Amino acid sequence: PERTAPANDAADAARWAERRTGGAVRIHRVSKRFGTHQVLDDISLTVPSGSVTVILGKSGSGKSTLLRSINHLERVDDGFIDIDGELVGYRREGRTLYELKEKDILARRVEVGMVFQGFNLFPHLNVLENVVEAPIAAGVPRADAEQLARELLARVGLVDKPDAWPRQLSGGQQQRVAIARALALKPKVLLFDEPTSALDPELVTEVLDVIRQLARSGTTLVIVTHEIGFAREVADTIVFMDRGRIVESGSPGKVLGAPEHPRTREFLSKVL
Ligand code: ADP
Ligand code: MG
Repeated sequence: PERTAPANDAADAARWAERRTGGAVRIHRVSKRFGTHQVLDDISLTVPSGSVTVILGKSGSGKSTLLRSINHLERVDDGFIDIDGELVGYRREGRTLYELKEKDILARRVEVGMVFQGFNLFPHLNVLENVVEAPIAAGVPRADAEQLARELLARVGLVDKPDAWPRQLSGGQQQRVAIARALALKPKVLLFDEPTSALDPELVTEVLDVIRQLARSGTTLVIVTHEIGFAREVADTIVFMDRGRIVESGSPGKVLGAPEHPRTREFLSKVL
């Protein structure tokens, strides 16, 4: 869905104008087992380019596995996931119909950025080096990587922190560095897996503010979170997962305001 640029805000308008195109994710009949445990069970979901999808569901319902599958960190047993129509693999009933080589999957992975619950910064690298590490490894000249890193640090509100060490930062600041680091590879899609769950309550807002700004900039986002108010505000689509299945999806008004499935109602009654 198209969202409109906020009026009277030059910075937002500029970001809007330069929003990246692409980043549509299609998940088609995806299943995944760990041993005999069916962790993803016939999941289908389309994430339009530039949209924001929030995934809700209790612990163990398969949310992280689904995000890891979008990022090609998990190989699905059945179905396929494509980004802008580009497949990495396709399996039907145990037969592999198509599969990229591992090195080509690695190359494809840079299209998808991921931010985890734990901040996972390199403790022996300062903030700037944390952000430039992956682009430089990918062949971006250091000067260009540093310039982009400084822009990204400004964007997440850490313009004065390039020389700081991760241990000197609050959890909220570390998570914002992690977001800048994910953006440094210019992903088409950004995945967030409970990005504020490990934070002290007073630090949650500063991280959600950065994600909200990304949502407005038109980057395709898929966010697993338990912050229901935030989900209602930023999501184009809310997906509710239970036991590896999508039991309900739709607009925030529908899924949060008038949930149809008993398990969605039960979940919401606990978190709201
Ligand atoms: P969520 O993120 O919704 O809490 P997960 O995707 O992390 O759910 O996990 C779904 C289920 O899959 C859980 O029961 C979990 O224990 C299991 N699981 C996840 N990863 C693995 C793995 N690598 N090996 C075996 N079981 C796993
Ligand atoms: Mg999880």
